[in-house]
Order: sequence, then C-alpha cells, then structure tokens
Amino acid sequence: MEYSGHDAGRLLKRWESLAGSKGWTTHVLGEAGGYPVFALLNERAAAGEAGGLYVSAGVHGDECAPPWALLQWAEAGPAVLDELPVVLIPCFNPVGLSDNTRVNEEGIDLNRNFQNRDLPLIASWQSLLHEKKFTFALNLHEDYDATGIYLYEIADDGSPGDEILSACQDIIPRETAPSVDGSEFENGLLIHDPEAENLHQIVEEDLGGGMPEAIYLYLNHARNSFTFETPSEMDKLRRIAAHERFLEAVSGYLRNG
Ligand SMILES: [Zn+2]
Repeated sequence: MEYSGHDAGRLLKRWESLAGSKGWTTHVLGEAGGYPVFALLNERAAAGEAGGLYVSAGVHGDECAPPWALLQWAEAGPAVLDELPVVLIPCFNPVGLSDNTRVNEEGIDLNRNFQNRDLPLIASWQSLLHEKKFTFALNLHEDYDATGIYLYEIADDGSPGDEILSACQDIIPRETAPSVDGSEFENGLLIHDPEAENLHQIVEEDLGGGMPEAIYLYLNHARNSFTFETPSEMDKLRRIAAHERFLEAVSGYLRNG
C-alpha cells in the first residue's frame, strides 16, 4: 500500500466506483468537510429484505485499517454480497480519518452518540435503518493499547465469537490481557449478556450515557452484534488482513446458517 491509510478522498473514490459497477444503492447520510458520508445497500437490502449483514468502518478516524479492509473485502466480490441483504457504511468519519483523530469535525466521538438524533448524521442513519433487521451487525475498530485482536460479542444465535477469533488469529494473535478498557476478557473475547437491561446499564455506568453503535444496533436492528478490534500500533497490512479475515469468517458463518 503505497499511499496513506488516511487518504479519505482516495478511499471514497474507490467505493464510489465499486458501488457504481455493482449497481448498489447509495444513500448519502451527510457531508463532512467536503466528504460525503454514505451508506451502500446491495439489491436485496435496497428491496427491504430482512437478515444478512450490516458492516460499518471508520467511526474513529485514528483507526485506519478497517475502512481499507472493508473496501478490499468488498472489491474482491465475496459471495455474501450477492446472496444476502447487505448494508455497508464505508467510512462514518471521513474528516477524522483524514486528520487521524478519533473524533469527528466537531470534536464529537460518534461512538458515544448513536442514540443522539440531534446530530444530523445520526438522525439520517437512524432513519435509513428504520425497520431494517440484520442477522449480523459488524463494527470494525482498532485499539492503540492492545497487542492482539479481540472481540465484543452480543449474540442471540449461539456464541460464534471464539470460532471467529480462531479464524483470524494466525494473522494477529489474540489479546492476552485479561482486561481491556476496564472490561474482563477471556482469550480475546468479551461476551456481553444480551439482556437489554444489562446493555443499558453498560451504557449508563461505563460509557457515561453515550450509546455505541454496536449496542444500538443490537437493541434495535440486529440479532447479533460484533465489534472486532486490531492493535493499531501493529503493521498496517497485517491489521487490514486481519479485518478482511474477520469479514470472511463471519460471512462464512452466516452463509452456512
Ligand atoms: Zn474505535
């Protein structure tokens, strides 16, 4: 990769060209610093079919591997993009990506604001997702304190998190720390109790009342919600490869029922 991972313009151009060639529907959710923030819906998702996959990347701009991994995965033409409804948010925070900062152009951490309809971008995202139901929602992130991959799982359909981490660990090993950001992990996996009451308690007590995308999606739109993290101090190409593998592993799990 001979260009910067923070070249948001290049990233979005490649997405526009891919979406055009595939005939996906583009929903512009907003505009930030001259960049569009858009959602892409494949034909099945645009037709309102339920199930399938939601994936977002680039919510935190200082985590550059996920948006490129999502792009490369989609460009490679995985079968899931034809077979199941899929909604993709290629880059939620393009100004943050360009500036290499966690927050958006107003200094806001979007991932503590997915309940906040006062933000026009979030309001239009909520409207787009209104009545949509996914089997899996995936949020791709990175962590500069981590030394390995890890996963937050909120799941109704069994507990595939360990299997999915296993599929990725030859690229980057699992995080070995028993605690990440104050939460207890086991072998890189944190399984949240999916009771709504518990999730609201996490938002109130651990996140200062700010709703992350993954919990909002589970409470409103997804049977299973996963947040996958790579260590952002590690080699960029390895991080991108790990996110691509994660997307392949979840897609495989989904397609095999
Ligand atoms: Zn993040």
